[in-house]
This record gives sequence, C-alpha cells and structure tokens, in this order.
Amino acid sequence: MAHIIAITNQKGGVGKTTTAVNVSACLAESGKRTLLVDLDPQGNATSGLGVDKASLETNLYDCLIEGRPMEDVVQPTMIKKLSLVPATMDVAGAAVELVTMEDREYILKKALQAYLGQVKKSYDYVVIDCPPSLGLLTLNALAAADFVLIPVQCEFYALEGLAQLMQTVDMVRDNLNSRLQLLGLLMTMYDGRTNLSIQVTEEVKKYFSGKVFHTIIPRNVRLGEAPSHGEPITIYDPHSRGAEVYTKLAKEVIRRVG
Ligand code: ADP
Ligand code: MG
Repeated sequence: MAHIIAITNQKGGVGKTTTAVNVSACLAESGKRTLLVDLDPQGNATSGLGVDKASLETNLYDCLIEGRPMEDVVQPTMIKKLSLVPATMDVAGAAVELVTMEDREYILKKALQAYLGQVKKSYDYVVIDCPPSLGLLTLNALAAADFVLIPVQCEFYALEGLAQLMQTVDMVRDNLNSRLQLLGLLMTMYDGRTNLSIQVTEEVKKYFSGKVFHTIIPRNVRLGEAPSHGEPITIYDPHSRGAEVYTKLAKEVIRRVG
C-alpha cells in the first residue's frame, strides 16, 4: 500500500513545491516507487521536473473533472522510479467545477484509488503538492492522504496561519478522513546567520514539540536555481547542500512513516 503524503501550507512561497519535487526525487533515488501529484494550477512541480506543460495532451484536470483514468495522465520523469501527474492552468477550472460535484472532497481520492488499485508494481509513496490555499483542491488532498507534511518558512510571520492550518487538519480528521496524521513540520529557508531563523525555529519547536523534522532545509542558492533548469536538486547539483539535506529528509520521512 502506498503511503500518501500531502505537502500543505496555505501560504505561498514557503517551500512546498521545492520540498515536493526534491523529496519525491530522493525517495525515488533511494529505491521507493514514487508518484508526485501536482495539485497546483501553477504547475510548478510539473515544470520543476522538466515536463513541458504546453505539449501535454492531458493533465490532472481531465482526471478530476472528465473522469479520465489517471494512468492516461501519468508521465515518466528523468528519474526512473518517479512518475508525475502533471497540472496546468486547467486545474484552476477544476477548483471551480468541483464545487457542484457530488462527494466533491473525495474526487482525487477516488481517482487515486482507482489508479493505485490497478497498477501492477504499486507505488511506495504518493506525494501531493498542494496549492497555496485551504480551498477544495487542498481538502481533496487532505481527504486522500495518510499524512500531512507542513513546510514552514523561517520568517517572522511563520506561526501566523499555522493555527488555522492545524484547525483545518483537525476538521478533516473529524469529518472527511480519520486516518490523517501530521507527519511533521519542516523548517525551510533557514539562515543560521540570522537570529530570526533561530528564534522562529525555537518558537515552532515550542508549540509543536516532537513534530518538527530534525532535518532543517537551509536557504541554498542551488535549490532556488534548479527549477529553472527543470531538474530536481540531486540531478542539477548532486554535491550541493540542497541535495544533501533533501536526501536526509527523505530518510527521515521513511523513518517517520514507519
Ligand atoms: P511554494 O510551493 O510554497 O509556493 P516554492 O517551493 O515554490 O514555495 O518556493 C518559493 C521560492 O523560493 C521558489 O522560487 C523556490 O525556488 C525558492 N526556494 C524554496 N526553497 C528554497 C531554499 N531552501 N533555498 C533557496 N530558495 C528556495
Ligand atoms: Mg508551489
């Protein structure tokens, strides 16, 4: 059975996509069959893996709204054990059209279940890159997931919004998906030279004791550059600090999932 991990934070620019792409790549490189689902209409995870959105015939929209089987939509990537369900701007339309659909919170879960039940060599991990909102797309991710991973940017307003996010996770657990567990909070864009990064990390650890990943993602220029080359960090610059920490994070994820 695949472990399904939703990477969520309603704030934009906190490192969700960077984490989704690179942790998926590192899981796959460590031998785990991994499927990355791009649930953000911006399609940053899709282009971050070098998939050209303009040349795609189908994408996640067709799965969610047109009932197209997920196997028609899944794309191979440059990493052997990593596949991708790509997103384009069409997915923004899905967010609207889902509203009037029956069982609207479970559309992604059903599409995934049908696909995962079918594929012969099943996946070990499914990673979902969420859009920056707590709307219906994100609810679909949380309803489908076993775990939620929350990237938290090391900046002053980091804690703001986390309370609302945790309330949403609780609401989902009570109403939509009793299996959902908090896998952990991941401190991102850490800069050890600034007191702010250190303080914010301490604060988050105080509020969420035991739930913060030991692996901390530093600010790393190569991590910022890799998406424009359409490559995960382990391919773009395998000897960078970014490659090292995301490899470490993938190991911690495997340990935590247990
Ligand atoms: P989100 O998906 O939460 O909106 P992204 O992963 O797209 O956030 O990150 C926002 C921006 O910050 C992107 O330009 C990304 O390349 C950059 N970035 C993310 N993590 C790091 C990091 N650890 N070091 C440097 N730049 C980063
Ligand atoms: Mg993103």
